[in-house]
Amino acid sequence: MTIAAAVAAGTLPGRVWLYSNYHCNLTCTYCLTESAPGVRRRELGPERMVTLAQEAKELGFTGLGVTGGEPFLLPELPNVLAELAQLLPVVVLSNATLFTPARLARLDPLAGAPVHIQISLDRPDPVDNDEMRGPGNFGKVIASIPRLIELGIGVRVATTVEEIDDDELGRLCELHRQLGVPDEDHIVRPVVRRGRAVDFDMGVEARQPDLPAELTITADGAFWSPFGPTVHGGQLDTDLLITRTTSPLRTPADALLRLVNGRPPGDDARLNIR
Ligand code: SF4
Repeated sequence: MTIAAAVAAGTLPGRVWLYSNYHCNLTCTYCLTESAPGVRRRELGPERMVTLAQEAKELGFTGLGVTGGEPFLLPELPNVLAELAQLLPVVVLSNATLFTPARLARLDPLAGAPVHIQISLDRPDPVDNDEMRGPGNFGKVIASIPRLIELGIGVRVATTVEEIDDDELGRLCELHRQLGVPDEDHIVRPVVRRGRAVDFDMGVEARQPDLPAELTITADGAFWSPFGPTVHGGQLDTDLLITRTTSPLRTPADALLRLVNGRPPGDDARLNIR
């Protein structure tokens, strides 16, 4: 079976993830990648990202994800995203704390493009939200979302929590709707027990069968799922490494396809980690 046929049949997820970088301006308690301002950056680089996107399209993948670290720390990112979006629809994960007027002005190439920025917002109250993500996070996020939407950029909200009761979730949903994000663009998912979450004794254990088999490319190799190339104790986790080779993209894509063949459908939905 070809990659394109496997994607069309739903055997293989259609999205390829690119880890643009590993550094971040924040140091969230549950961070999977132990990201922080001074960590090793492990950048893929703009040209490599575009080449990977071209190969992904040629192979028959149908979408791209960009994650980190905080991707918008890279000054060239808006232009790279615009190039990627000419090939395939893109979702890029962000903490949304860097969107100053100067940075927003550089997002012009993304207006109206098939790009969604997926922004982390965990709680409806500033104190509770900022406990895990750092002081001032909530205020910056709720200021950024309407500005991005005004610019014509799609926004999704991702809520990552150990638990949340109905009342709190209801208030959070009310908030994202007020900010202009509809229910279909809000996802709620558990903290995964990898990276810094291990040290804080948080999160659910996620094994390979629990995770959608989304091909994920980093500067250090190709992985099963964007929850694969996590970092703990400063070391890259390799339990979900598929291949060290990422060029051509066909090599890890074929390896992933061999791994998923015969997997029962829906086997990855137990923890709702998406
Ligand atoms: S969880 Fe996201 S925003 Fe927080 S430190 Fe990690 S990469 Fe940065």
